[in-house]
Amino acid sequence: MPGLSYPFVYECTNCGEETTITRTEARDLAVNPDSINALEIVLQGRGWLRDEMEGLLWCPSCAEGELST
Ligand SMILES: [Zn+2]
Repeated sequence: MPGLSYPFVYECTNCGEETTITRTEARDLAVNPDSINALEIVLQGRGWLRDEMEGLLWCPSCAEGELST
């Protein structure tokens, strides 16, 4: 199975804030950086929140606002 093509750039649905995940960062946190789960682990570790149903993604500051309302 071919590996994932790092780096991955994610953008906040709400404010447009971007975060980049490199292979090195994924490998530091996840056992297998070529697993899609590795990306989830890194995003969660940074406080980013994903809404699978809606296909939305929030940066930490927007996630905070979303959770407190
Ligand atoms: Zn945001």
